[in-house]
Amino acid sequence: MTTRVPVVEKILSANDRIAEENHARIESAGVFSINIMAAPGAGKTSLIEQTLPRLKGKLRVAVVDGDIATSIDADRAAKAGAQAAIQINTGGDCHLDAIMLRSALEQLDLTQFDLLIVENVGNLVCPASFKLGTHKSVLVASIPEGDDKPYKYPGMYRGVDALVINKIDLLPYIPFKMDYFERGVQVLNPGVLTFPLSCRTGEGLDVWIEWLTQHATHKK
Ligand code: MG
Ligand code: ZN
Repeated sequence: MTTRVPVVEKILSANDRIAEENHARIESAGVFSINIMAAPGAGKTSLIEQTLPRLKGKLRVAVVDGDIATSIDADRAAKAGAQAAIQINTGGDCHLDAIMLRSALEQLDLTQFDLLIVENVGNLVCPASFKLGTHKSVLVASIPEGDDKPYKYPGMYRGVDALVINKIDLLPYIPFKMDYFERGVQVLNPGVLTFPLSCRTGEGLDVWIEWLTQHATHKK
């Protein structure tokens, strides 16, 4: 058992080096990039699906989807208007790592895009430990998951640059105390940029779209 921690540290530092290479590649192409993380079912793919039509004609978007199996999510992204959609099947791994993203980037001419959206594998634990090299990390929380998630998964809430709170249309039907949730978030990640929205009704999506557009436009 004593060798376990050094081995994990070695894997993580190798990952960080490749993440830096990915970052340099993305940055030199002038693309703004985000890594979307969440529990399964929080609405990562739905958010991408609602985002793409709203960026149509404004930004050229590539989507890289990580899943344990299937290409369902990349198919949905392509259908929603992504100029490129690449599926990474992790073959059982419960997170994306920098090597997996690198292999996806090798299939893209990044200079042809303004925005790169990476959808991580649904998981609230280890994706937080594996940097990919994107500019911003985004956590999608959702009302049905419950208001205790920041307390139970602090590692994920601590590290992200932005927090989407999806499915706010369900607030009248679910005992979710927003002030309790937000107190938990503030302790871990004070002042984190927060986007309450509903992918179903479209409420709040305009603010999210504005944020993406601003960042992607500044890269040009
Ligand atoms: Mg998905
Ligand atoms: Zn994992």
